[in-house]
Amino acid sequence: MLLPLMRTGIGFDFHRLVAGRPLVLGGVHIAWERGLLGHIAWERGLLGHSDADALVHAVCDALLGAAGLGDIGRHFPDTDPRFKGIASVRLLESCRRLIAERGFSVVNVDAVILAEAPRTAPYRSEMEANIARALAIATERVNVKATTMEGCGVIGRGEGIGAMATVLLAPADDGPCA
Ligand code: MG
Repeated sequence: MLLPLMRTGIGFDFHRLVAGRPLVLGGVHIAWERGLLGHIAWERGLLGHSDADALVHAVCDALLGAAGLGDIGRHFPDTDPRFKGIASVRLLESCRRLIAERGFSVVNVDAVILAEAPRTAPYRSEMEANIARALAIATERVNVKATTMEGCGVIGRGEGIGAMATVLLAPADDGPCA
């Protein structure tokens, strides 16, 4: 019996937390640490060329890896001005097109946010919906969870936020891999 050609991929990302940036995770803007310096509003978020959405970047890398398409840096280099400040869910949509061209569809996405703060539980269903929308799949196929590092290491000290993701791809019904 010929088994369907299923493919798995793994993704990991990390970005530094700095003042003067919005925090965007899973396409959700989380205004958790913010204030006024004189008349200038500030907030704390992840540093990067795009919106530095570590969760979405991890999902992109898992998708590209599963399809044998390299990684996010190869397709969306941080030296390219087209990607400066871009919402990473747009990059995820591009990854979906790349996967589809290879003849794959997404079975499911599982991801974990590594962050000491903020608590992400209130935002996770919105993150799942954003990721699912970008991938044109049902929200039930996307799972986002989170853990702290119990105060240890760079993430535990609040110096940055990381994310890991795995995906499973299957041949699309009408794709060349079916
Ligand atoms: Mg990144």
